[in-house]
Amino acid sequence: MSPPSVAEDPAARPADRHWRTDTYRRLTARLETVVGDKTAKPFETLKVRTVGDLMHHLPRRYFSGLELSDLSTLQPDEEVAVLAEVASARAFNLPDGSYRSTKKPRLEATITDRRGSLTLTFFGAPRLIQYWAKQLTPGARGIFAGRVKEFNHKLQLAHPDFVLVDEEGSAVSSGVRNADLALASRAALVGLYPATGKLRTWTIADCAQLALASLAGIADPLPDWVREEAEVIGLEEAFRALHQPSDRSEIDQGRDRLRFDEAFALQLTMARRRADAAAHGATPRRRRSGGLLDAFDARLPFTLTAGQVEVSEEIMGELARPHPMQRLLQGEVGSGKTLVALRAMLAVVDAGGQAALLAPTEVLAGQHFATITRLLGDLAEGGMLGAVEHATGIVLLTGSLPAAHKREAMLRAASGEAGLVIGTHALLGTGVQFADLGLVVVDEQHRFGVEQRAALSAKASARPHVLVMTATPIPRSVAMTVFGDLETSTLREIPAGRAEVSTVVVDTRRQPGWVDRAWQRVVEEVGQGRQAYVVCARISATAKTAAGDEPAPEGVAEESDQAPAVAVEDLYAELSTGPLASLRVEMLHGQLPSEEKDAVMGRFAAGETDVLVATTVIEVGVDVPNASVMVVCDADRFGISQLHQLRGRIGRGGHVGVCLLLTTAPEGGLARERLTAVASTRDGFALADVDLEQRREGDVLGARQSGVRSGLRLLRVLDDADLIGSARGLAERCIAADPELSEPGLADTVTFMELQAAGDWLERT
Ligand code: ADP
Ligand code: MG
Repeated sequence: MSPPSVAEDPAARPADRHWRTDTYRRLTARLETVVGDKTAKPFETLKVRTVGDLMHHLPRRYFSGLELSDLSTLQPDEEVAVLAEVASARAFNLPDGSYRSTKKPRLEATITDRRGSLTLTFFGAPRLIQYWAKQLTPGARGIFAGRVKEFNHKLQLAHPDFVLVDEEGSAVSSGVRNADLALASRAALVGLYPATGKLRTWTIADCAQLALASLAGIADPLPDWVREEAEVIGLEEAFRALHQPSDRSEIDQGRDRLRFDEAFALQLTMARRRADAAAHGATPRRRRSGGLLDAFDARLPFTLTAGQVEVSEEIMGELARPHPMQRLLQGEVGSGKTLVALRAMLAVVDAGGQAALLAPTEVLAGQHFATITRLLGDLAEGGMLGAVEHATGIVLLTGSLPAAHKREAMLRAASGEAGLVIGTHALLGTGVQFADLGLVVVDEQHRFGVEQRAALSAKASARPHVLVMTATPIPRSVAMTVFGDLETSTLREIPAGRAEVSTVVVDTRRQPGWVDRAWQRVVEEVGQGRQAYVVCARISATAKTAAGDEPAPEGVAEESDQAPAVAVEDLYAELSTGPLASLRVEMLHGQLPSEEKDAVMGRFAAGETDVLVATTVIEVGVDVPNASVMVVCDADRFGISQLHQLRGRIGRGGHVGVCLLLTTAPEGGLARERLTAVASTRDGFALADVDLEQRREGDVLGARQSGVRSGLRLLRVLDDADLIGSARGLAERCIAADPELSEPGLADTVTFMELQAAGDWLERT
């Protein structure tokens, strides 16, 4: 799907002509058309630009205008709205003619709810102080909103917004100019909006009132039957319930509706994509016997696992169909996904097409190229003089290749001489063409967005088949959300002959001697002919995190005030002159020039280097079977899945592996818990569960695959799995009954979602 042209300027709003319903026209009306330019301006900082944006900007809390809030439970830094009575008020430093104070005039009032009390302070010109003093007379009741601060061991609110109310809870006067005096009276509950700087919660409430008025009488975009089955209230009703509720149960209903809308819009979009893909033709690539694939299989030094056979059949079956395959292949690190993908690629070549493999980093693309070239042997020498029968050409295409190489690779891809094209996102470049692209394999999907997949698909005249591989086990609800347009296959077993890896957490604070022991262990393993990885969270002492093309460690906020992590450059210097001086040590990280990266990796793969001190650049897919030890420094800086991926680099060649996780993280903390979990099992699916429990939503979805995320405000992909499932069912029924989306409300819902995703995509690139 290419982004609609209106989204080229991310700030531009979809014009009216996009909308088939009056509802979406009103929802996407710019805010200033309803509240005026001046009032709309400060909303920019909240990214609230339209009436609909404002309707989705929800109060963080609600408070009742009639009940007294509990002043005895306030905490410093809490943002509160309290209903209380003024006990006393006193002005300080007011000029009284005879004597002129040099101090700032100030009003101090004490409010109470009979359970506790709180000081309010106001500074200002004498005139203002007098004005406030007149309002805040003892006995006056009001709602006071602001952030609680501790001052001289006492809690206070400085310059709170306030509305005074009468016995019935109606507002009688206000401390804020232009505030709607009826605020507290028009609903029994008042929402407290997350306010920023100049934009007060009262102003937002006023604007929400105007926005609601502008939406009066809108038709619901959802068909009645969907609303009934989903058991949700109407849209206008939901907006009113959230911005001007009369009781708390309404708020929940309003939230439920908006949450359903998010899930439904997403699933409708996915269902539409699936239907669209199914409606599109793809060239069937039928498996041909006696060709390249058979020749390759005959040479394989091992037998396929049952899972590999099963998934391969599934894939071959789909490749033979006249519709594009859209499949996600998930499986443990080392479960043999790459091999499955390669066999699919060879089948496509046999059927006369080309296959492209897209890798997330240059190192990984280079590795794939080397591994596949090696596995194929002379079967990869197609186009060369004296090539064996069935041979095809293979090229590597990455951004940092010398121009001449790149030109040649592009030529061989465009002419069709190369049946296999392996590369990074450079493959997405506009100059890259294929003679007949039949299959796109995307490795480690979590680093590619939906749109990048689409960009590569667009390079084929007919839609290519698509296979996406990921080593991160994905819960079903996330899969349905992020990869909702894909079917899923899973490889559960690890090929036989995979060795044990024992993992030990080393507390370097309590067992300092163990660090030396770790290096000693490295020396011993190398003495046995093995190789080792040492992984650091940072490249250099000056860089804050690992940079370059490797993924940044998924450290969590709790550790942010720790001492800086050990850096690759420092540790490399230390080890190669100290404990590992007798070994051949090299370093690898994303900031090295790519030829150097390739050379370092090449020497390590060839066994010319004993120890590689590296960043997470080695996390993904690097395959050196002789490596048996891994030492991870500051292991607590990494996420569970990252550690699991890293550890997957050892124990690959049948040699028993050992993985040492060095940490200073205290026992009992979350970080330490992660390490203990990683040490206790090598089952990626079990670890994914622990991971999900610990991680927040955004981390699970990942920033980069957030093409669909911008639409998610209330939906919690993990917690709302059931909701997502039922939304998916309803969306499928809508699309089945109405594949062309002639229902205007549904059509607009999908258009809106796609415009949002496209806008996001443009902001990212
Ligand atoms: P993944 O991509 O899932 O991490 P790979 O396809 O890279 O896994 O496989 C990991 C290693 O296991 C490679 O060295 C590969 O050659 C080897 N391998 C793959 N399938 C088998 C098998 N059926 N039996 C033995 N080794 C295998
Ligand atoms: Mg792999």
